[in-house]
Amino acid sequence: MNQSCTQCDAKNSDDAVFCDNCGTRLQRATVAVAPSTAAPNPHDGKPNTNQVNVTINTIAQPSKSTTVAGILAFFFGPLGMFYSTVSGALIMILINTLIILPIMIFTVGFGAILYFPSWLVGIVWAVMAVNKQNTISVK
Ligand SMILES: [Zn+2]
Repeated sequence: MNQSCTQCDAKNSDDAVFCDNCGTRLQRATVAVAPSTAAPNPHDGKPNTNQVNVTINTIAQPSKSTTVAGILAFFFGPLGMFYSTVSGALIMILINTLIILPIMIFTVGFGAILYFPSWLVGIVWAVMAVNKQNTISVK
C-alpha cells in the first residue's frame, strides 16, 4: 500500500504527506470518497458537515455555608461533617472508632481527651471543605 512520489518515484509510506526523498507533497493514492448521502447546502452548494453538538452540563450547584458547616461539625462532630464533606466525615468517624476509641479503652478513659483535637480537626475540615467547594462552583 505504498505510494510513489510523483517527482522522484521514491516509495513512501501510505500515510506520508511529503516525500521522504525529495520533500514533494504527495498525492493521495486513494482519494477520500465524499459522502454522497450528504445533501448539498442550498446556499453555497457544499455538502453539509456534521456538527458535533457538545452538551455542557451547567448544573448550578447551590453553595453551602461555611457557618452552617462549622456549627454542624461543632455540635455533631463527624456526623455534622456529612453536610460539608462525606469523605471527611467517614474518615473522622473511622479515626474516632478505630484509633481513639481503642486508645480510650486501653487508657481507661484518659484517651478520651483525643476526641477534643479530633473534634477541632473536624470543624476546620468541614469549613475548609465548604470553602473549596464554593471556590470550584464560582468558576
Ligand atoms: Zn520524491
